[in-house]
Amino acid sequence: MKYPILYKLVCVFAFILLAGSVSGKKPIKTLIVTGQNNHNWQVSNVALKKIMEQSGRFVVDVAVSPAAGEDMSSFSPDFAAYQLVVVDYNGDSWIEATKQNFISFARNGGGIVIYHAADNAFSNWPEFNKICALGGWEGRNEKSGPYVYWLDGKLIKDSAPGPGGSHGKQHEYVLNARDEVHPIMKGLPKKWRHATDELYDRMRGPGNIQDILFTAYSDKSTNGSGREEPLMFTVNYEKARIFHTMLGHAGESLENNPAMQCTGFQITFLRGAEWAATGKVTIKVPEDFPTETRVTSRLDYK
Ligand code: ZN
Repeated sequence: MKYPILYKLVCVFAFILLAGSVSGKKPIKTLIVTGQNNHNWQVSNVALKKIMEQSGRFVVDVAVSPAAGEDMSSFSPDFAAYQLVVVDYNGDSWIEATKQNFISFARNGGGIVIYHAADNAFSNWPEFNKICALGGWEGRNEKSGPYVYWLDGKLIKDSAPGPGGSHGKQHEYVLNARDEVHPIMKGLPKKWRHATDELYDRMRGPGNIQDILFTAYSDKSTNGSGREEPLMFTVNYEKARIFHTMLGHAGESLENNPAMQCTGFQITFLRGAEWAATGKVTIKVPEDFPTETRVTSRLDYK
């Protein structure tokens, strides 16, 4: 049986309306900034885009910078055109106008996600370090700000001298919730086991953490710090909403990418990103979220 074209068009239109009303929300306009990193950014930016778009909550553009050492003068993403900027960049300095546009975006209440090695970037750019709250490597030391870690039920700021940023060998580890009321945290387990990843330790910076969400114990037996390290938090910076996750070291390919294929990484990333963009979280905690003893993975990122 053949249906008239008008009938088909009406059906398609009705479907679009229905799909729109079921979700009830416009997708969040997102920009991933990438193109230079000491990590496999060619994998990470594709994985992040997949995770975000397959959730149905985000539409994602990607701004790829010139390669390291090349002329950066043309690299000027239109941050203000987006609700959310995901920083997956650790490389050459941006030109002054690009820096200013990024700061304006933050100050005007933009949503920002600082993802893994993005907090290694720009150690000599004070405003960026305030947007991260904590960073590592690239010459960071006591001049960058205190070490910050969890001890006796609260965050400690420790001004001891020494380099900022380290990690031991990659391994599975348990994330410990330090907040139960933040929108990102509601419904998440108090403890969950993350797939094999780096565990950043001895990070230091201005330390302007707003809400500490998850810490993890960095064991000396894996060449860690022996401290309970802050790995996921929000940042207090002007009117911006900033979610910082130190998880998600990119693997060698999309198929071999355990830290980013971890269900816990993906769901916390999505919830943090949605909160940064809107101040609310509607993305559900799924049945297959990891438990304290069981790692779960979504090999196809959805
Ligand atoms: Zn890494």
